[in-house]
Amino acid sequence: MNILVINCGSSSLKYQLFDMKDESVLAKGLAERIGLEGSVLTHKPQGKEEKVFNQPMKDHKDALKILMGALIDPVCGVISDMSEITAVGHRVVHAGEKFASSVMLTDEVVAALEECIPLAPLHNPPNLMGIEACRAILPDVPTVGVFDTAFHQTMPDYAYIYPLPYEYYEKYSLRKYGFHGTSHRFVSQKAAEMLGKDMKDLKIITCHLGNGASIAAVDGGKSVETSMGFTPLDGLAMGTRCGTIDPAIVTFLMQNEGLSAKEVDGVMNKKSGVLGISGVGSDFRDIEAAANSGNKRAALALEIFCYRVRYTIGQYAAAMGGVDAVVFTAGIGENSATIRKACVNGLEFMGIKLDEKKNETRGKELVISTDDAKVAVLLVPTNEELMIARDTKEIVEAK
Ligand code: ADP
Repeated sequence: MNILVINCGSSSLKYQLFDMKDESVLAKGLAERIGLEGSVLTHKPQGKEEKVFNQPMKDHKDALKILMGALIDPVCGVISDMSEITAVGHRVVHAGEKFASSVMLTDEVVAALEECIPLAPLHNPPNLMGIEACRAILPDVPTVGVFDTAFHQTMPDYAYIYPLPYEYYEKYSLRKYGFHGTSHRFVSQKAAEMLGKDMKDLKIITCHLGNGASIAAVDGGKSVETSMGFTPLDGLAMGTRCGTIDPAIVTFLMQNEGLSAKEVDGVMNKKSGVLGISGVGSDFRDIEAAANSGNKRAALALEIFCYRVRYTIGQYAAAMGGVDAVVFTAGIGENSATIRKACVNGLEFMGIKLDEKKNETRGKELVISTDDAKVAVLLVPTNEELMIARDTKEIVEAK
């Protein structure tokens, strides 16, 4: 069974074609600058040479047509006919309170996702464009939606309701949703597997540290708390996002800097985080390099980032009444030994102790805590695309 996984951004389309017999990737690629001048699709077939398609793509439908052509191309293709694609899995950012797990994309489901657009005005529209394009081009192929928010729908109400007038929750569905759910689910399951334990018996804290970063508390396989909130702006300090700040700062800046609502939103989403503190950039490699060569603000940015991760680990251990494992994943979590070390520094009192040598590992599954540590620390590369493919397979087979 071959499953095509699609992740659409406003001007991009990422894809991977999986052979679910052994979960291998037959091909993957990326279409960029969709709807803009200079659109390009880079196709990477397994065991064959990469091919770049410099072709105009006015919308996601054009991008899909080119990618499908690439998949069946005699030279760079990996299948001989589109009928070899059993199903398509789509990443969708926001499913509001409507879906707590992945579902088959029917007309009703698509309509429900359209209703979630006000909750994710930047993300859901391109996700939906990809779905529409796919349904138009492959009308007989089942499509499944996998949602970033779904995994966190198991949070208890006392975790997801904000202490604001309750009517705003009723009127706008204004509550904590959480994001990166597919990643938190994947790495928590993998961690249980690596520890040889049943998910039901584990309290796991998963740290997804990428450009966008969030932490989740996963108790018995269910997300019970997470650091992103109503939007992906909340929680940790990130590449360019501020994370949790005193909410009164928003009105203070509007009054004192004369900023509009949109402008403050821009400051908090695009000019803050480690970029805002360091002035160096948002890429953690650049910030680490600057800090190592004596840049104090870069060092401070890293310190703030790691401090927030560290106290969130403490909070979530308290929220769950204990912790058995802490997992690091995503670009920073998988690659930076220095940041992982700083994120758990001083947590020995909780039973967290890193094996310094094992912590030097990059990008592969490994338990990196000492053998005698009470709490296991794990490095688990995330694979959201594979999780989407697995869900899609399961839903299509159950049909
Ligand atoms: P996203 O998917 O949110 O864009 P990723 O999970 O791809 O993010 O992570 C991107 C981040 O990972 C970047 O900030 C990048 O600097 C960081 N990163 C990648 N490799 C390293 C490394 N070796 N050391 C530190 N940070 C790294």
